[in-house]
Amino acid sequence: MAGNWKMHKTPAEAGNFARLLRQRVAPGRGVEVIICPPFPALAAVATKLAGSEIGWGAQNMHWEPEGAYTGEVSGPMLQAMGCRYVILGHSERRSYFRETDEEIRKKVGAALACGLRPIFCLGENLATRRSGKAVDFCRRQFKDVLEGMEISVPDALVVAYEPVWAIGTGKTATPADATEVIGALREEAARLFGREFSARLRFLYGGSVKPDSMPAFLEEEEIDGVLVGGASLDIEQFTAIIDITA
Ligand code: PGA
Repeated sequence: MAGNWKMHKTPAEAGNFARLLRQRVAPGRGVEVIICPPFPALAAVATKLAGSEIGWGAQNMHWEPEGAYTGEVSGPMLQAMGCRYVILGHSERRSYFRETDEEIRKKVGAALACGLRPIFCLGENLATRRSGKAVDFCRRQFKDVLEGMEISVPDALVVAYEPVWAIGTGKTATPADATEVIGALREEAARLFGREFSARLRFLYGGSVKPDSMPAFLEEEEIDGVLVGGASLDIEQFTAIIDITA
């Protein structure tokens, strides 16, 4: 269960949320919970979650370890502060900041190289969904970013299928549609990395997940978890989503 906070919450607000989350999520539940605050709030969240089972991650990084890249943050910098996850390839980065599959590939490679776990996002837009080409499109995104990549263990990476038209819109994919895409991505993973790897690779669904829409996704065998945007900002909604898995 991963929360993507996007550009929300000050360090104080984020720290407070993390403290509450820690109180609400009992250890040993067998559910991996992660929150991804904006950069300035990472340290506050790290402090509140130190020694807990709840993970935290960033929402972006540059592929170079350091250099003249004003405004950017590198993987080794995140890693050095104890960060373990980083969302990469989110559709908002792809559309507002023109990130290409080639750049996302460099970022995923750089994250893996410095021991960060990418939460690699992909998904089709509405026109592609309507044209009936969603599965092929997502398969191609997956392949363009991951083909030939050195990935030591399936656990080193999480893949999030997030149809662009479902993000922040209140519309979700049907669990069957999400399963169709994720099933195809798993096949692609088997082709690239072998069956055993593919069976253990974790796939999340994302796009307007709320406590009431969540259970139907969790029932699908192909879907290992969810990436939650809006509903992860609210402690009641996010803990309700986590509680469903308990
Ligand atoms: P949403 O966002 O849950 O608000 O649709 C999901 C995401 O962008 O990861």
